[in-house]
Amino acid sequence: MTTPEIVDSAYDKALLTRQAGDLLDRHMPKPLSACEQVLIKPNLLLAAPPEKAILTHPLVVRAAAAWVLDRGGRPLIADSPAVGSVEKIWRVGGFEEALKGMPYELRSFQTADPVDIGAPFGTIGLAREALGIPTVINLPKFKTHAMMTLTLGVKNLFGCVVGFEKPKWHARAGIQREQFAKLLVGIAEAIRPTVTLVDAVTGLEGQGPGKNGTPRPMGALVAGANIHGVDAACARMAGLAPEDLPTLAAALALGHLTIIPPQPVPETVFKDFKLPTQSPVTFGPSFLKHLIRKHMVQRPVVNPATCQKCNHCLTYCPVNAITETPEAVAFNLETCIRCYCCVEVCPHAALEAVDTRIGAWLQSGKRLVDRVF
Ligand code: SF4
Ligand code: SF4
Repeated sequence: MTTPEIVDSAYDKALLTRQAGDLLDRHMPKPLSACEQVLIKPNLLLAAPPEKAILTHPLVVRAAAAWVLDRGGRPLIADSPAVGSVEKIWRVGGFEEALKGMPYELRSFQTADPVDIGAPFGTIGLAREALGIPTVINLPKFKTHAMMTLTLGVKNLFGCVVGFEKPKWHARAGIQREQFAKLLVGIAEAIRPTVTLVDAVTGLEGQGPGKNGTPRPMGALVAGANIHGVDAACARMAGLAPEDLPTLAAALALGHLTIIPPQPVPETVFKDFKLPTQSPVTFGPSFLKHLIRKHMVQRPVVNPATCQKCNHCLTYCPVNAITETPEAVAFNLETCIRCYCCVEVCPHAALEAVDTRIGAWLQSGKRLVDRVF
């Protein structure tokens, strides 16, 4: 495995073109063949301008496309957004402007092909392009995630599950973070991107990955051919031990990562990086789990003052736990699996994952939790 690299960077067209080009040259296993189609998979979650730091920055996408064109390839840029069309996200996100004059194809994943990702999930449908195009450049954004702690290379590929199959797979993975992490690792292993290049020039900290997150200047690009190695390097940048990231714990347990990248140089470790506040989604004796989840685990909460009643959260909830009310929306906390997809897709930052009173009390006194359970 090539060791992942972290390089100082900035959102400067010339600098990024050179740096991304160098990184791709170093981590691509072989040169592109003439006219080879290359899939570029950025994070195009929802329509948001670059300064919100929710999506892969347009200049990073531009730099990857420029590298493909320079080496005689054909860039195909594609994703399956949670909310809105790829075309709208492309316009609002500043991609159209950034890639003006460049020959590329933009596509929304539409067709899924079946692939077996092993037990316990079996066969899943993944975007035909992600499975069929041999060279895939994975371009995630460095950001926090309410359920997975950070969304990096592995989580970015969940966008290759087409459209509303995504919430269905959330529901199948269920309440456990570990189970969802295994699903994500299974998907990443089925796609096996050729290179992962993380946009950590400005990351997103706090309550990401959507509009409740806070942009965090980090000034770095992280790249490598082993997606788990890249994610491990990023985890360390956020001050986490790699095994504390659910997707990395799953990759380690499944044997997909054997060499854990060493601690990066101190300048690239952000010890004060704000991770999302999280409570365990399952804990305690099994006969009490339901009650514990209901009363102690963070729950989605709406701010009626900012809710625009757009219904995106209702449409996306994998277990139909959200209903419309005259003021905003309401949650059925009996059926809610605490996946926080609604928080992720709300385009108006009207939803938050909030500790219950008992949960907050228990979180602030971990020793007490240990004594009780
Ligand atoms: S909470 Fe957000 S996603 Fe849900 S209806 Fe309100 S504005 Fe739309
Ligand atoms: S209400 Fe929100 S957190 Fe609960 S299951 Fe639905 S999308 Fe997930």
